[in-house]
Amino acid sequence: MVNEHYDVIIIGTGAGGGTLANALAPSGKKILLLERGNFLPKEKANWDSKEVYGKDRYRTKEVWYGKNGEAVNPFTHYYVGGNTKFYGSALYRLRERDFETVIHKEGISPEWALKYPDFAPYYDRAEKLYEVRGKRGLDPTEPPSSEDYPFPPISHEPHIEKIYYALKERGLHPCYQPLGVKLNEVDSFLSACIRCPTCDGFPCLLNAKADADVIGVRPAMSYNNVTLITEAKVLRLHTNASGNQVTSIEAQIAGESQFFSGDIVVLACGAINSAVLLLRSASDRHPHGLANSSDLVGRNYMRHRITAIVALSLQQNPTIYPKTLAVNDFYWGEKDFDYPMGHVQTLGNITEDRAAAKGPPFVPKEVYKAVASRTTGWFLMTEDLPEPHNRVRVSNNKIFLDYTNNNEIAYQRLIERWKEILKSMPPLAILMTTKMSLEDVGHQCGTCRFGEDPQTSVLDLNCRTHDVDNLYVVDGSFFPSSAALNPTLTIIANALRVAEHLWQRLQPTTKE
Ligand SMILES: Cc1cc2nc3c(=O)[nH]c(=O)nc-3n(C[C@H](O)[C@H](O)[C@H](O)COP(=O)(O)OP(=O)(O)OC[C@H]3O[C@@H](n4cnc5c(N)ncnc54)[C@H](O)[C@@H]3O)c2cc1C
Ligand code: SF4
Repeated sequence: MVNEHYDVIIIGTGAGGGTLANALAPSGKKILLLERGNFLPKEKANWDSKEVYGKDRYRTKEVWYGKNGEAVNPFTHYYVGGNTKFYGSALYRLRERDFETVIHKEGISPEWALKYPDFAPYYDRAEKLYEVRGKRGLDPTEPPSSEDYPFPPISHEPHIEKIYYALKERGLHPCYQPLGVKLNEVDSFLSACIRCPTCDGFPCLLNAKADADVIGVRPAMSYNNVTLITEAKVLRLHTNASGNQVTSIEAQIAGESQFFSGDIVVLACGAINSAVLLLRSASDRHPHGLANSSDLVGRNYMRHRITAIVALSLQQNPTIYPKTLAVNDFYWGEKDFDYPMGHVQTLGNITEDRAAAKGPPFVPKEVYKAVASRTTGWFLMTEDLPEPHNRVRVSNNKIFLDYTNNNEIAYQRLIERWKEILKSMPPLAILMTTKMSLEDVGHQCGTCRFGEDPQTSVLDLNCRTHDVDNLYVVDGSFFPSSAALNPTLTIIANALRVAEHLWQRLQPTTKE
């Protein structure tokens, strides 16, 4: 039996779903949010790295599988606000050229059917909504924008400032990271954020991080036309006989199947889970998965080539919040290498418990403490190229990530170049490099790419599935390429763009 009928049902409340709900709430339309997680509890453990990293307190316990059947516990989180509850809130616009065909050393990054100017007005709105702090004019790759950031940048602390000047001396163009943290450095009384060491990778105990829960869902909930059901895991979408309309949504709530229907249904479960849901919704009419006539659902999965470099120095690094600096000088390559290499940014704080969680247990706590207080972490990101064989797959109801690394030469070159630069800046001494593995799905995208041609894309330019008239996907799935910058501002901007389309679609048609 189908429960109530809604104008719009949004499945998932992360960057895509939470933002869409926020944008549609004032429409007065009857909106239902279905979220498999609950509200993240506000508790001291939010900022306890032993709990968050040592015990994986908030990470899902789910098991997925790699292409050789190896078990993988994905680094992902199911809460209202999705993974933005834990994100570092680095909110970047993609570069103008990222929307064009880009030749890489080992492949091609395809053109987007919409270009930077199509996204620019929504980036403006996204930066305002998520209260981004930043400074334009320092980054040589920065795309044009008609407006300044809504707030000034988060300042560098003295140790990071020293690095800033050392990088400038080497002819580079270090710049501020655009950040969604509500820090007011002029008047601390008015500041929601207290500039703490447990931000990137942790939830914010003060609700001062601009995440999709705080910015998107909570304000949307103040409209009485919006309903949120938590701990409602959507299992399957059912269609009419001809397969061109979703007629009901099956969700598991308190161990029971419940059914909902909506004029418009929007998937926003994250790029992996949205693809999984479509694949699990196969039927006679859609034998290879719902909206999958192109056979592209789940394919072209991308997650960035990411490395963390930890530079250990003899000097203490007393920085509390280091994630303020970035370098894009190698984004499009360098002398003698005319191919994109990628982006470099400072990492969040490496606390002693976080170091201990990754290190051997027999090492005394004091060692981790001494190490952590002398480190500066770097986060290097190279574009992951879309390849059909890199895919999300469902077999025997299990989730598989068939994934093979690509763009290796550019990736290795960026790592080596950055190590050289760090070594040239004494007293930075030892460098430890950790490459992200299959479980690191934080930057997932690409599994339902958008485009004009139903044979080469899953979604049309409004992010509606080509095959099913009332079904949309509004999360990281729609990316045709991953670029080499954090994805979330683009997911948010796109959700605002799709919301505009849905407002129009939901208007009653006037008869002549
Ligand atoms: C530690 C960490 C740091 C990060 N830092 C940054 C950063 O600094 N900058 C940046 O741009 N990005 C960052 N990211 C990535 C960022 O979090 C994601 O890009 C963003 O959250 C993706 O938004 P989304 O809407 O696609 O999916 P999500 O935010 O993951 O939201 C998906 C939602 O769907 C729900 N859901 C899933 N399946 C179902 C189902 N079957 N039924 C009902 N609900 C379902 C989930 O519970 C979740 O709430 C980081 C990620 C991590 C993990
Ligand atoms: S730095 Fe600010 S926004 Fe981040 S967790 Fe700490 S208080 Fe919250």
